[in-house]
Amino acid sequence: MVVGVLALQGSFNEHIAALKRLGVKGVEVRKPEQLQNVSSLIIPGGESTTMAKLAELHNLFPALREFVQLGKPVWGTCAGLIFLANKATGQKTGGQELIGGLDCTVHRNFFGSQIQSFETELPIPQIVAKEGGPPSFRAVFIRAPAILDVGPDVEVLADIPLSAVETINSNHAIQKEEDSTESQKKVIVAVKQGNLLATAFHPELTADTRWHSYFLKMLPEIGEGTSAIISTSTTD
Ligand code: GLN
Repeated sequence: MVVGVLALQGSFNEHIAALKRLGVKGVEVRKPEQLQNVSSLIIPGGESTTMAKLAELHNLFPALREFVQLGKPVWGTCAGLIFLANKATGQKTGGQELIGGLDCTVHRNFFGSQIQSFETELPIPQIVAKEGGPPSFRAVFIRAPAILDVGPDVEVLADIPLSAVETINSNHAIQKEEDSTESQKKVIVAVKQGNLLATAFHPELTADTRWHSYFLKMLPEIGEGTSAIISTSTTD
């Protein structure tokens, strides 16, 4: 069994290494015809406008959209989440092309620029229910997006209280609000909608493979109840 990893730009090598730690082969996908050789796809973090330009150059958008619409499992991390969203907003969103399919609005660079990148312990009850391990996940946010709203078929897997993020960009609209209840606000950072999984953070940059293991269980050839064949490492 092989998992495709979109390898136009960004952290595709890290995803392939994480899959390898679980005994699964990840193959680089750069051309439309290569999607025919894989039954699932990971879209890595990176820079979504660059990725979109490269996808356009390689004529990948029609094949990627078809892949999503056929119900094949696709997981987008960070820029990959933006790529999968039906709508992207926020600073520096210049009408970039999206694959779409994930019924949500994503705000690019929600937490600020590179220097406002951060790590946090994220409670992940649904993942723990399936994968075990510690109750939280050390989530790495790098120029990360956040999900501002979701459609009725979208399951929220993780959210983050804005008050927990010390390094939120001071320019951010929500922080400008005077109302103190605003600091209690949460934004969504991980979702599942049918065959689509999306995380605003980068599980491929940690040694904790629970998100990869969770994604593999979405694959029909693995499915639920086969955790014995996937050894989940939760060391960090
Ligand atoms: N901010 C980036 C973008 O808009 C995503 C960052 C990332 O993938 N780490 O594409």
